[in-house]
Amino acid sequence: MVRLQTDAATSRRMSNQARLATHPELAVRSVLRELGHSYRVNVLSMPGSPDVANRSRGWALFVHGCFWHHHRGCGRATIPGRNRAFWLSKFKRNARRDAEKIRSIQALGYDVLVVWECQTVSRESLRTRLNAWFTARESSVANLVGLQASRNHAPQRLRNGMTGYEQGSTRA
Ligand SMILES: [Zn+2]
Repeated sequence: MVRLQTDAATSRRMSNQARLATHPELAVRSVLRELGHSYRVNVLSMPGSPDVANRSRGWALFVHGCFWHHHRGCGRATIPGRNRAFWLSKFKRNARRDAEKIRSIQALGYDVLVVWECQTVSRESLRTRLNAWFTARESSVANLVGLQASRNHAPQRLRNGMTGYEQGSTRA
């Protein structure tokens, strides 16, 4: 009986983890590994459960499908002809929810990047983009740390600085 309960608990836990990664998510993870960044996936302990994140390094990534998250100006972000009003309101809701997730993570002081599905097609340009983002935020963090050391700013100041920086970089 105890054994059965354990098995049930185990399988329930496994089914919670069983959300299969999409191809764009796998592409992003693979490039992150190549660039030497460690990460966790589907980080439920952070608001909005980002697809990939590293809490101690202070960053989070969302990998968005262009259709479902309605990537503005993207050829993949089509609006189905049937039930057009339904789809428009659905996309609007999704976009609002996405923006809320990003804001709530930024409010905790994390840098947030949205990677769109269409940006994962070319591994080379995905690599360039991710590398540029990490390089920029590392030098920004380094500058802020230097500033903090010389002027003795409170840690909160550093967090705010990082938030300001990432707001500019989340516009995909
Ligand atoms: Zn797109």
